Amino acid sequence: ASLYRIDGWGAPYFVANSSGNISVRPHGSDTMPHQDIDLLKIVKKVTDPKSSGGLGLQLPLIVRFPDVLKNRLECLQSAFDFAIQSQGYDSHYQGVYPVKCNQDRFVVEDIVRFGSPFRFGLEAGSKPEILLAMSCLCKGNPDAFLVCNGFKDAEYISLALLGRKLALNTLIVLEQEEELDLVIDLSQKMNVRPVIGLRAKLRTKHSGHFGSTSGEKGKFGLTTSQIVRVMRKLSQSGMLDCLQLLHFHIGSQIPSTPLLTDGVAEAAQLYCELVRLGANMKVIDIGGGLGIDYDGSKSGESDLSVAYTLEEYAEAVVASIRFVCDRRSVKHPAICSESGRAIVSHHSVLIFEAVSASSNVKPMAHRANPDDIQFLLESEEARANYEDLYAAVMRGDHKSCLLYVDELKQRCVEGFKDGVLSIEQLASVDGLCEWVLKAIGASDPVQTYNINLSLFTSIPDLWGIDQLFPIVPIHKLDQRPGARGILSDLTCDSDGIIDKFIGGETSLPLHEVDNNGGGGGGKYFLGMFLGGAYEEALGGVHNLFGGPSVVRVTQSDGPHSFAVTRAVPGQSSADVLRAMQHEPELLFQTLKHRAEELRHTKGGDDEGGEEEDDDDGDEFNDIANRLDRSFHNMPY
Ligand code: PLP
Repeated sequence: ASLYRIDGWGAPYFVANSSGNISVRPHGSDTMPHQDIDLLKIVKKVTDPKSSGGLGLQLPLIVRFPDVLKNRLECLQSAFDFAIQSQGYDSHYQGVYPVKCNQDRFVVEDIVRFGSPFRFGLEAGSKPEILLAMSCLCKGNPDAFLVCNGFKDAEYISLALLGRKLALNTLIVLEQEEELDLVIDLSQKMNVRPVIGLRAKLRTKHSGHFGSTSGEKGKFGLTTSQIVRVMRKLSQSGMLDCLQLLHFHIGSQIPSTPLLTDGVAEAAQLYCELVRLGANMKVIDIGGGLGIDYDGSKSGESDLSVAYTLEEYAEAVVASIRFVCDRRSVKHPAICSESGRAIVSHHSVLIFEAVSASSNVKPMAHRANPDDIQFLLESEEARANYEDLYAAVMRGDHKSCLLYVDELKQRCVEGFKDGVLSIEQLASVDGLCEWVLKAIGASDPVQTYNINLSLFTSIPDLWGIDQLFPIVPIHKLDQRPGARGILSDLTCDSDGIIDKFIGGETSLPLHEVDNNGGGGGGKYFLGMFLGGAYEEALGGVHNLFGGPSVVRVTQSDGPHSFAVTRAVPGQSSADVLRAMQHEPELLFQTLKHRAEELRHTKGGDDEGGEEEDDDDGDEFNDIANRLDRSFHNMPY
C-alpha cells in the first residue's frame, strides 16, 4: 500500500485493509474500523448477477458514498465555525455548493439535505443549473443562499427573480456590467426587489493552471471602474440597498494560504469600500479554490497538492476578513464560500478492469532458432553485424550490444523495404534483438495494460489539462506487484493513454495479468480516486463510449456491511447512439431487414428442403439476437 501513497492522498477515507484490498471509511474516522467497507466486495456484489441481491452491472462503475459527502460538508462547516469562534468573529459562515462540479441529482439532493441544518446552499452558473438548484432548494433550508453566477441573459435573470417570488434566497451576482440594466428593468417589470451581488476582478493572481480566471485580465467579473459605474447606477435607481454581496474567485486548487490571505484581504478592502459608498453589504463570497491533496505530498508545489488543511484554510479566511474590517470599523460580514472540488472529490470512486497486458515488444521465449536467422549469414554485411553482436554478448559489453542491435535492426528493415527480407525473417530479427536486450537487462520492462474505460468519458481532465488522479489496484495490495505498466483505454485515440502518475512516475507498479482478462487469480480491478468533482460533468462520448454504471453505497448495520441504495446501469450503445441523433430502433430494423433479405435470396438460390429452412431461421434469429444484445449492452 505504501507504494501507492494511499495514506497520503487517501486519509481519512481510504485505507488498505488486512486482506490487501482498499476499504472506504465513509465517516472519515479510524475509531470505527468495523464500519469500513471493502471496495472489492461492492464490485463483486453489484457485478455478479448470480449472487443474492446481485445486480449484474457492467464495469466501468462509479461507486458513490453519500456518507463521505456528509462528512466533507460537516468538516467544512466545523472548520469555519471553529475559526469564527476562536477568533471572536462577529458573524457566521454559510457556504454554497457550485453544482457545476457534479450536477448528479443525488449528489445535489444529498448536499441540500445534509447541509440544511447549517443553511448550506447552492451556486448555479447557467439556466439549467438554476432550474435544478431552485427545485432542490425547495426542500432545503429557506435561508440557504442560491448564488446565481455566470453569463446572464433576460431569461436567466427572470428565473433568479422568480426564485425570490418562490421565497428562495436567490442572489444575482453581476459578472458583466450590462447585466445590471436587465436586473433593474426586469425587477421593476416583475415587481420583485432583487438581492444583488457583484463579482470583482481582483488584482491578486494565482499563477497555477487553475488561476487563469484570476487577475485583472481574468475572464469574469467587474473591473474597479465598472464597479464604480455600477454603484452610481444603483444609487440613481434607488437600489443601493439591493447590493448585499461581494464575490470573487481566485481560481481553483489554491496552493497556499499566503496567496489566499492576499486575495481575501484585497476583497475585504473592496467590501469596506462598498459599505462606505452606501451599499447594504452583508456577505462576502470568497468563491471556490479550496484545494485537495491529489498526490498526498501536502507541498503545494504543483496543481496536485495544497499546503494547508481545511482548518488552516478557514482560519486564514476569517483572520484576513476580520483584520481588514476591524481596521475600517466595518461590521463583520457573513462568509460564504463556493467550494466544489473539496466537497465532492472524495465521495466517488471510479472502478475499471485491466483486461489484458502486453509488453511493448514481445520477447522470444528462447534464444532465436539458428535456422530462423540463417539468412543473416548469407549477406556479408548482415553476417558481420550479427557476429559483432554475438561477440559483444559473449564479452558482456552492454554498450556495444545496444549499438549492434540498432545497426542490425536498421539493416534488416532496409532489406525488408527492398523486398529482400520476408515478414517472417524480419520478425525473427526482432525476436533475436529483443532476446539480446532482455539478456543484458536493457529491454523495456513497462507493459501496456488495456483497461475497459474511456478517458474522454471518465477522466477528461487527464486528457485535457494533464490533471493526475491517484490510480491504484483495489485489491492484491498484500502482494508485491511484479510488473510496471501504463494504461491504455478502449478508444481508438492515441491520447487515450495514461502514462503519468502521481509522484512524477511514468509507469505504475502493477500485478501481472494474463491476456484473457485477469491474472490466473481472476479479474484485476483498478480504482481512480478523488475524481468526484468535474470529471462526470465534463466527460464526452468520444468513440461513443458512454457513462459508466453508478451505484450508491451506504454503511449499514453490522460489521463491514453496506447497502446498495441505488444502482443505475451505464449508457448502452443505443443510449449513446440516440445522444448523437441516431435512432437505434431504426438501425436495428435496417440490419434485421438486411439479414431477412439475404435469407430470402439465399432461400431462393438453395434447392434444399425444410431442413435448410430451419437452419436459416436459426441463423437469422441468432443474428437478430446478437444485434439486439449489442444495442442494449454498454459499449465497454
Ligand atoms: N465558484 C466559481 C465562480 C468557479 O468558477 C468555480 C470553479 O472554478 C468554483 C466556484 C468552484 O471551485 P472549486 O471547485 O475550486 O472549489
